[in-house]
Parts: sequence; C-alpha cells; structure tokens
Amino acid sequence: MVQSRVKTLSKMEKRDKLERIKTLDFSFRSAPYRGKRILGANNISFSYDQNTPLISDLDITIGARDRVCVIGKNGKGKTTLLKILAGALSPQTGQVDYNPASIKGFFEQTNVNHLIDSRTIEEEILYSHHDIERQTARNICGVMMFEGDSALKKIGVLSGGEKSRVLLGKLLATPVNLLILDEPTNHLDMDSCDALLAALDSFEGAVIMVTHNEMFLHALAERLIVFQDEKVHIFEGTYQRFLEKEGWEDEKGLVKNISASDDILDAGAKVKKKELRRLRSEIITEKSKTLRPLEQKIAKTENRIEALEKELTEYTEAMQKASEGGTGKKIVELSQAIYASQTSIDNLFDELEALSKELNEKNTYFENRLKQLEIPNGEKE
Ligand code: ADP
Repeated sequence: MVQSRVKTLSKMEKRDKLERIKTLDFSFRSAPYRGKRILGANNISFSYDQNTPLISDLDITIGARDRVCVIGKNGKGKTTLLKILAGALSPQTGQVDYNPASIKGFFEQTNVNHLIDSRTIEEEILYSHHDIERQTARNICGVMMFEGDSALKKIGVLSGGEKSRVLLGKLLATPVNLLILDEPTNHLDMDSCDALLAALDSFEGAVIMVTHNEMFLHALAERLIVFQDEKVHIFEGTYQRFLEKEGWEDEKGLVKNISASDDILDAGAKVKKKELRRLRSEIITEKSKTLRPLEQKIAKTENRIEALEKELTEYTEAMQKASEGGTGKKIVELSQAIYASQTSIDNLFDELEALSKELNEKNTYFENRLKQLEIPNGEKE
C-alpha cells in the first residue's frame, strides 16, 4: 500500500508536468495580410535628454514576413525604439507609417497596468478577443505556465513576472500580422521558450523583437537593428553573420573574426546557418508530434489507475464491513475483486513505467539531435 501511494504521488507530479507539455503546442493567430511591406520608419530621432541622443536618423522598412531582432547592451534605447515602432511613443523627428491592413500586437513587459485586477487569468485571456473559446483560453494559460486551477487566480494577486506572462498570453489570443515583442522570454521556462520559438518561427506575419536569448537570436533573426557605439544601424543578415562580420565592439580581439574577404566561405556559412535553423525548427515540430501521442497514452493510463485505485479502496472498505458480520460468500467475492483490481493496477503501473521510459528516451533523442544542430555559440554580450 505504501509503495503504491509513493507511486501515486510521483505519478501525480508527473501528470502535472505532462498536462503542461500537452498544451505546449500552440501558435500565434495570424491576421490575413497580402502586402509586401508592413511598416516603414523614416528619419527617426529620439532622446529623453538632449545631451544623449538615443536614436538618430534611423530608417527601416519592415517586410510582411520579416524576422528582425533588436540587439545591444541595456540602457541603449532598444525598448524606446520598440515603443516608437509600435506607435506608443512619438519620435522627435521622422515618422512611422503602417500599411493600413496591418494589425499589430505589442508586448511590453511593463504594460501590466492594462490588466484588470478583479479578473481571473483565464478571463483576461478570454476577453482579449471576441472569438476565443474557453478551451483555447485554457490552453494558452497552460503555455504561459498557468496550468489547471492556477488559471483561475485573480490578476490582483499575481507577481510582476506572472502578469507579464498574462500579457503574452493575451497576444496569443489576438489575430495580428505584426508582432512587436520586448524580451518575451524573460519570465518563461525552457519548455515555454521552445514553444514560443516554434510559434514565432511559423507565424505568418512580421516579427520585431528585442531579445538577449541566444537561441532566439540564432534561430529567428534574419535582420538586426544593432545598438552599438552610441549609434543604431541595421545589419542585413543573421546573428551568426553579425558575430562574424561585426561582433561586439568590446569583444574585438577576443573573437576570431572570420574575414569577409572570402565570399565563397561566407556564402557557404550563410546557407549552412539557414539550413540549421530550418532543421532545428523541423525537429522541434517532429518532437512534439512524436511525444504527444505518448503523453496522451500516459495520461490515459494514469486515469485508469486512478479509477481502479478508487474502486480498490471501496472494495477494501466493503471487505472490512463484510469481515465484521457479512457472509463468507460476500468475503470471497470481495477478495477476488480486490485481487483483480490490484493485478490490473500493477500491470498498468508496469505499462506506465515502460511508457515513461519510452518518453524519456525519445525526449533525449530529440534533445541530442537539437544539440548537434546547435549553431556555434557566439560570444555573449
Ligand atoms: P534598453 O531597452 O536598451 O535597455 P531603454 O530604451 O529602456 O534601453 O532606455 C534607454 C535610456 O533611456 C536609458 O538610459 C533609460 O534610463 C532612459 N529612459 C528610458 N525611459 C525613460 C523615460 N521615460 N524618461 C527618461 N529617461 C528614460
């Protein structure tokens, strides 16, 4: 009995985790968009204090499927630029134009005062858009690490990080074609980061994102807006290419700079990075396709065990009563029923163990494949 209880406990923990993984396959909702260009910024300048201009004369055009990352050390003006591109802050010179068909979704960490304290997390997600169904809202809560009943917590009791996950969840519920994201991975765990990366990869619209997350930079960025040396410039290329061609100023000399003189080598490297990114995203998709049926089987097995354990408790109680005054026939019947339930439970636990082992092995297999495809790590900021 004790052993069975220990097993039940660890199984419950496992179930919580599995429930989570099951809901992790998600995507952003894309609003239809046909144009080529979604946003144009011309001659943008901005400073909070006249002596230290943050952005001077910046031009950038964002295409409908662009993946643009904004990089640079903290305090340089990345968030400020994102606010300007999102229309939340007006530049002092220049302007930002949007294609009329654009629908933007802006994720900003500090924007949490838009949330309503008396609502639950699930309600906040539901109210993000009129056609969101309860189950979808629940799934989004799961992705944002509010599994099960924790989705029923009120906004008012949440920490800053939790609130910012709710904001990201609201964005998942809203159909958009331009995502403007300020450090979206900050409060996410590894599983949610993976899910977010896959979702951004397959998003139909344009993405402009501030991030320090190396995996996101390597896997997503096709263009960069670089804050470096008190200047902002556009780098047309991947993050790896940026590290090779320009790199971080204060790391020059430390980083072996692959020379730009060998065009053939450069072109080869570019194709390789692109291929690596594509393969990684394929593997992430394949992983979730392979693991999901296993996880569902595990959940089913666990449910059956739980039902049988309940039944077993009932039989055991009935047996106690029967042995106090029941007939011999009843006792025999109950002891057969108890034996049958126990045997089924044991068999199901064996099955569960085999399934968990298979899940672990497959998970390791995919993780190893992903590791092999890791894009050589550039030096951190
Ligand atoms: P980053 O996103 O690169 O960390 P920010 O855009 O948040 O940089 O900030 C750039 C600079 O502007 C920082 O020095 C910051 O202190 C300053 N700053 C940010 N917001 C304001 C504000 N509302 N008023 C005055 N200064 C600000």
